[in-house]
This record gives sequence, C-alpha cells and structure tokens, in this order.
Amino acid sequence: MGILPAQIGRIVGNVMQIGLRTVLPPRCGGCGAITDTVHAVCADCWAGLRFISDPLCACCGYPFELAGDDDAGDGFLCGECLRKSPAFDAARAALVYDNGSRDYLLRFKHGDRTDLTPLLSRWLLLAGQDFWGDADLIIPVPLHRTRLLMRRYNQSGLLAASLSRQTGIAWHGTVLRRLRKTRSLGGLGPSSRKREVGGAFGVDDRIAARIGLAGARVVLIDDVLTTGATANACARILKRAGAMQVRLITVARVVR
Ligand SMILES: [Zn+2]
Ligand SMILES: [Zn+2]
Repeated sequence: MGILPAQIGRIVGNVMQIGLRTVLPPRCGGCGAITDTVHAVCADCWAGLRFISDPLCACCGYPFELAGDDDAGDGFLCGECLRKSPAFDAARAALVYDNGSRDYLLRFKHGDRTDLTPLLSRWLLLAGQDFWGDADLIIPVPLHRTRLLMRRYNQSGLLAASLSRQTGIAWHGTVLRRLRKTRSLGGLGPSSRKREVGGAFGVDDRIAARIGLAGARVVLIDDVLTTGATANACARILKRAGAMQVRLITVARVVR
C-alpha cells in the first residue's frame, strides 16, 4: 500500500515540529526555564499565578472572593463602581497583578518575549469570554511612537491581533492614537494619573469612518488595569467618536 499525500504532509509536519523544538526549546514565560511543552509555564511559576474567577464586580471585574468579600455575588457592583461608574462599560482581567504576573508582563513588554503572545492571548480570550459574542472591533491601547520605536512592538497590539485571529472579530491598531507621551504612571496617585492621561489619546477620524467605529461595540486591550485612568481616557475618546460600547480586557489587574 502506498503512502497517501495527506500522510506525507503529516510526516513532514511532525519532522519539522521536532526540528523546531530542537532548535528552540520552549521556555517558561515566567522564569525562562526550559519546559517540555510549547508556550507552557513551569510548575513553580504556574503555582505563583493568581487567576481571577467569579464572583466579580459586574462592571469592573473586581474579584470579590480574592478580596475577602465572600457575601457579594454575580451581578453585584463593587464599592468603587457604585460610587462612580467608569467611562468604560466593563472590564475583565486574567490575573491578579502581583510579583508573579509582573514578571510575565515585564518580559513580554521589555524582554522581547513576543513568543509569549499565544499564552497570554489564551488567558485574555477566557477572561473576556462574555464579550466576544457581540463585539465588533478589538482595539489595543496605543503606545506613543517614540516608545514604540524603543520597544519595536506594542504588546497590546500583538494580543489584539492574536485575539482577532481566534475570535474572527476585526482589530485595528491605529484608529486610537497616543497624541503625546505620558510619564510612567507608576507611583502616581489616582488624580495625578487622570491628569497625566487627560488629552493624551485621540481618534483618527478618517480611519474611524472607514472601519465603522460609530455604533461599534469595542473591546479594548491593555496589559494592566491599575486605577483605570488610561482605560477611562481611551473609552471617553472612543465614545466621543461614536463607539456604542467600550469594554476592556487586561492581562492583569490590581486588587486592593
Ligand atoms: Zn517558570
Ligand atoms: Zn467594580
């Protein structure tokens, strides 16, 4: 019996995979140790990651259980959202922002570990599972062009492209622009952060008209949700340009 073309394809594919693995052993996204499966996390790092799960604030995704708020359930809002609704309609995050997840994000942002994109985007896909059913457009939070030159890639853009491939929802990387460079927000309080990002973002009207931003339900992608200053600034400007809804997914979020 001869070998069918499909079988040959499979054999060649297997050989090529083995070849690639030999050349580039997969490394843990956290500590860089060599792991046995592609895009995996080593056992130590996995144990150090805190994934966010229900019950959550229906709006900002604040995890009640991790915060020791056991009596709150699904559909409830956290104290912060009750006091003042954010400009974005909802937010979800995959991980608690702590020492464990900070390592991943730093490697992804500054360490040229773009190979972590499939892993992180799988986490984002799950975190935002309620959003994909009726979303029209995926938009990454932009970097200023000088920062983009320094890093060579926008990590949120890589995630947006990967999520677009997985969901079939269109993404656009330049309709939302960073008009001026902002200082690093680390170490700034909520009101200083808000001041710092005020007027920092803009929408390219020509692109917005071409891709149909008016009336669109947007999913915004960012790395970390801290005070929400950046997400709120982006949501405000997108809504001013006609977006019907802006929901946010981040890799991690601060839980206080
Ligand atoms: Zn590790
Ligand atoms: Zn909330």
